Amino acid sequence: MSNYKESPNGRWLPTDISPSRLKTFKTCPKQYEYNYVRRFPRTTGIAALQGSTLHEVFLEEYILPSSPYMVLDNGIRELVEKIDAGDDSTELDANLKEMLLESNGNIDDLVELMIMDLQSRLDTEDPRDYKTNALVDAFDKKQGIEQMKIWGKGLLVAIRNGKDDYGNAVRIPPVAETEVEGCCEIELPSGVKLRLRGYIDLLFEDGSIGDLKMASDYWKAIWTLAKAISEDQPAMYAKMTGARTFRYLIVDKKRAKSGDAYAPMVRTIDFEVTDRDMEKLIEDLELFVKVTDIVNGHENGLFPPKPEYNGQTKATAGRTELNFCGKLCNHKEICFNENFKR
Ligand code: SF4
Repeated sequence: MSNYKESPNGRWLPTDISPSRLKTFKTCPKQYEYNYVRRFPRTTGIAALQGSTLHEVFLEEYILPSSPYMVLDNGIRELVEKIDAGDDSTELDANLKEMLLESNGNIDDLVELMIMDLQSRLDTEDPRDYKTNALVDAFDKKQGIEQMKIWGKGLLVAIRNGKDDYGNAVRIPPVAETEVEGCCEIELPSGVKLRLRGYIDLLFEDGSIGDLKMASDYWKAIWTLAKAISEDQPAMYAKMTGARTFRYLIVDKKRAKSGDAYAPMVRTIDFEVTDRDMEKLIEDLELFVKVTDIVNGHENGLFPPKPEYNGQTKATAGRTELNFCGKLCNHKEICFNENFKR
C-alpha cells in the first residue's frame, strides 16, 4: 500500500474522512474521541491480523491480472468451461491435470506466505483478546495460524474453481487493480468542505468496485445484504470513483466451538449504491461534522459513550467493567472508569 509521500493527494489532512473514521463515530462517539481526538493507543486482535494477512497476500500477490498465479488459474477455468461444454478430448484432460498440479503448488506457496506474514504480525503486534484485553497466549496464536491456513486456502481455491468447498458458485469479474487510493473533495449543504479518502480493495474490469471481508459467521455478525446496506463505505467509495455497482467478497470464517477451522464459505454480496444511499451519506457527514466539531480541531465536540450490553460469558461473569459494553472497543477500561464507575 502506498504512503502519502507517493500519493497524488498528499498528506492526510485532519479533515480527511475515511470509511472507518465515520464508522467509528457512528458506532460510538466516545470511541471516536478515544481513537481520533485523544489518540489513545489501539490494540489489535488475532482476527484483525488474519484479515490484514489475507488482504496482503490475496490482493497484492494473487488476484492481480498480471500475477502468474492468476494467469494460470484463468487458463484452468477456460479449460474447465470447454470440458463442461462437451469437449472431452484426452489432451484437454491431460493439460488440465498438469495445470491443476502446478496451481495446487502455487496455492500451497501462497498459503505458506500467509503463514509467514501472520506469524510476523503475531510476533510484533502483541494481539489481545478483544473482550478482556489480555495478551493472547501461545495456544491462541498457534490456533490462529492453523485457521489462517484453512480460511486463506479456501478463498484461493474458491476463486480458482469458481465455487467454494460447499459447491456454492463464486463468480467475480476480472480484477483490474487492487488497493487503489480514492480521494475526493465534497462540499456539504452547510458549506463545510471535506475530503473523503480511503483505499479501495478491488477495482473490477467492468467498472464495479469492491471490498474483501474475512468475517465471523456468528448469526449476530454475519455479513448479509442487510448489513452491507447499513454501511457508509459503498457510498463513500462511489463518491470517490463514480462507480455505483458494489461487491463485498466475503470469506465466512467457519469454525467449531473449540475454534478449529472448517473450510470457509466464500460468496459475494452484489448491490447498487442508490441515490438515497448518497443522500444518507451526506446526512451522516453533516451530523458527524456538527457533533464532532472537526473543522475546529474538535474543540466543542460532543462525544457521549453509547455502550451496548451484550450479555456475559462464563469467563466474564460478574465483571461489570468488561460486560457493560459488548461493542468491539479497545478502550473499555478507561471508558468504564470515566463514565460508568460507581
Ligand atoms: S466501551 Fe463502549 S461505550 Fe465505551 S467507548 Fe467503547 S464502544 Fe463506546
